[in-house]
Order: sequence, then C-alpha cells, then structure tokens
Amino acid sequence: MTQAYFESKVDRYDRAYRMIRGRTKPEEVLYTDSSARILSRSRGFLGGFDYTMQLQVGCPGGCLFCYVSSAPRLAPADVRQRWGFEVRVKKDIPSQLARHLSRGELADRTVYWSGVTDPYAIRRSVTQAVWQTFNAVPTELRPRRIVIQSRYRPARDRDLIAEYANTTTASDGGPSVVISFSIGTDRNDLIHSWERATPTFEQRMTSIKKLRERGIFVIPTLSPFGVWNDLELALVQFRDLGVSFITVLFLKKKTPTANTPPDFLKHVAESYPFLLEPKWQQEQLRKMRERVGQDRVLAGQKGFSSLVNPPLTDPIPE
Ligand code: SF4
Repeated sequence: MTQAYFESKVDRYDRAYRMIRGRTKPEEVLYTDSSARILSRSRGFLGGFDYTMQLQVGCPGGCLFCYVSSAPRLAPADVRQRWGFEVRVKKDIPSQLARHLSRGELADRTVYWSGVTDPYAIRRSVTQAVWQTFNAVPTELRPRRIVIQSRYRPARDRDLIAEYANTTTASDGGPSVVISFSIGTDRNDLIHSWERATPTFEQRMTSIKKLRERGIFVIPTLSPFGVWNDLELALVQFRDLGVSFITVLFLKKKTPTANTPPDFLKHVAESYPFLLEPKWQQEQLRKMRERVGQDRVLAGQKGFSSLVNPPLTDPIPE
C-alpha cells in the first residue's frame, strides 16, 4: 500500500474526529499500566455471561461510535474523555488468569472477552499467553465457552484457539469458542473515518476465512450496522465461509443499555439519517433474512444473547 493510502486514512479519521467530537484529536495514544483485575462477574447488559475478561482499560481502536466512551459505568472518566488515546494495560495477565483457572472459578462457565475493549487491540504476545494459559489447564477446569468480541485480528492466534476448541467439550454441546466478529460496513472510507486503528473490510473477511479454515465457530456481527456498498455479496461470502447465523446491532439511541455516543448520533442524523430509522432498519433485516434464511439473522438483544448459547450450529444452507 502506498504512503498516500495511509495519509488519506489518517486524514479521514482526523477530519471525522474534529467534526464529530468538535476538537482536534490527541496527538498519540498514551499507554500506562493498570493494577485492575482482568476478570469480573458479568452484570448489566453483559449479564448473560458468567464473567467478562478485559486485559486493558480503554481501547486504542478509538471508534467514534463506541458506546463505552459515553457510558460512565464502563470506563473511568479520563479514559472516556480521551477515548482511543488513553490505554492502561493490566499487569500480570497470565498469572491472574492461571490463578482463577486453578481455583476452579471458571470451570464450566461462560466468559465474554470482552465488551469494553477489543481483546485483540493488544500485543500478540499477550493474547498468545492467554490462550497458552487456557490450554495448559485440565479440561475440567476450563470455561465451557469463551466468546471473543473483536474487529481486529483474532486469526493471528488461530492455532491456539483451535487447540482449545478441539480439546474442550462444552457441557451444553455447543462450541467452546465463539468469535463474534464485528463488521459494520464494507466501505473502507467509513471504517477509516470512524475507526482509528482497525483492519479494513477485506482484512476482516480474510480473518474470518482463516478462522473458519481451522473449524472455529464465527458469528459475523454487523455492528454498528452502517452503510454498505454490497451487503448481498457480503452475505453470500459469510454463507460460503460456513457461518451458521449473523447478528445485527443498529446504532442505539435512548435504550436502557449502552447507547451510541450523542455526538456520533448527531453526525449520523445529519449525514446518514436513514441509519436511525426503524422502518429502514426493518427493511434491511427483511432483505437479509430473505437472502440467508428467516432464522439466520438475529437482531438486537436476541443477537447478543445468541453469543452465550448459539441457537444454531449448522452452516447456512445454500
Ligand atoms: S474496537 Fe471495539 S471496544 Fe475498541 S473502540 Fe472500537 S468499538 Fe470500542
């Protein structure tokens, strides 16, 4: 890729940040340490899971639509204020995890990794150490399901993930690893405008392909559902990759759970108002269901709940 490509990518985010946040973006991402625990009991809208695991406070993804930046209970105020540019990496991650596992606290539990910072927006050595720790304990001490929520590159650990998936039998018969892969649009101009440091659409599709080649259970999560060039083609690609169903989350306004930041909603209301219209949203769901099957597109809370206990595990039929 050319220098011009990267410059235009940075320019797009700079421009969008100024327009949406009403100020210039911080110069750089500030990394510090955190002594916080990596595991906590799930609550609120994550309550369907037993535990959530977060390896850092804050997320370098810097997505302008990220609900965490406007949710006081999900991150400290100073981290939210500089969302995307203030990241605190937790200390002693493998040893913390090993302690929880050896005490049997995670045995037959569900773990959501993670709702408030992308699990793969961190050094490769850290995620490798996490999987090595999971794989090192006897199967009876392992979580029955680890659900990864990412728009980054979980495929970089596909061998370790496949090792866990192939050697762990979930007590409910479902997959022991679920990758909920966030893809909100196939338009890289929008990805580059709204997300500071995440992979392109093509890179995400390649990740899904690599994961599926190892037999890993992947749910494409169209979130937040944006403007698509060719949604139909993406659906066909998902089906060809052998996924079982798709989940959809629209931008969230005045819901009881975590909502899209008001400044981003204002931007969308001015530039893409249809994204917020229930009638348009229903029409998108109707078209998607027509393409891949009525029961293969799960929206909103139903989609999120499906991550805990996937209701379908056979591939979308031809
Ligand atoms: S990658 Fe995920 S957690 Fe990180 S800023 Fe983007 S939406 Fe938020």
